Amino acid sequence: MEIINLVLGSYETNCYILYEPGQAEGIVIDPGFEPDTIIGKLKAIGVKPKYILATHGHGDHIGAIPALKEAYPEAQVLVHAADAPMLENSSRSFLNAMGGTQAPRADGHLKEGDEIICGAIRLRVIHTPGHTAGGVSLLAEDNGCLFAGDTLFNGSVGRTDLPGGNFDQLELSIQGKLYHLPAEFTVYTGHGPATSIGKEKQSNPFVRADSSTRDDIHG
Ligand SMILES: [Zn+2]
Repeated sequence: MEIINLVLGSYETNCYILYEPGQAEGIVIDPGFEPDTIIGKLKAIGVKPKYILATHGHGDHIGAIPALKEAYPEAQVLVHAADAPMLENSSRSFLNAMGGTQAPRADGHLKEGDEIICGAIRLRVIHTPGHTAGGVSLLAEDNGCLFAGDTLFNGSVGRTDLPGGNFDQLELSIQGKLYHLPAEFTVYTGHGPATSIGKEKQSNPFVRADSSTRDDIHG
């Protein structure tokens, strides 16, 4: 699987294009801004999106969906059900404040354990609420990587002070789910540089590894 990372808009949101060389369809994760940049890249690699996935409903992760959907009407826009109402309400998603003019709409919902399959690409949905109620992380187990949205960052975690945010939930999502993944797995974040599960378990100052996942600490 090839991964293209586009850093888009004033919020510098990481948008990811996943594709297999020679395969006509791919996946776009978190198209927040600059639809022309995303479409230009898709055309350059000869890929059409089969799925457009939003890790959560905030405007900086969904703002380019309407234009993408217009360019690729057959693409399925998927988001967790708990964040779907946010998608369609520009003040709840803060899309208004971020300069978005058209609210996207989901074609279907993501839930814990769902498999998103696009040719040879396989993603498993992990529900990781805390930053928002419907936040998800997308696990590409065959490729040893995770797309964590705004749940887990390199040396930080997503903010929990916005509506639907809850730090205890976020901590539970990270400690109880993400930190159980293999330490060497790469974490592609919603903003900023990538990291790994092992690095965050060892040194993330906001969510520490709990006793059940602290297998890499001696004593
Ligand atoms: Zn967010």
